[in-house]
Amino acid sequence: MVRCEKCEKELTRDEIGLYLKTVSRRAETFLCPACLAEKWNVPESDMRDMIERFRRAGCTLFEQKE
Ligand SMILES: [Zn+2]
Repeated sequence: MVRCEKCEKELTRDEIGLYLKTVSRRAETFLCPACLAEKWNVPESDMRDMIERFRRAGCTLFEQKE
């Protein structure tokens, strides 16, 4: 189970994907969207929008709907 390095929240595949995509493709530790949003000083909803955008682009790091 992968957890956020800061708040220890369990991360979903999408949340790990977001970190890999926006921070580092070789990351071994991760932050959840809430902690990333805090770090970048942007609303957490921006993180959710980004996940949806990457998903729609067909990025395989994100859960693709059938
Ligand atoms: Zn966190």
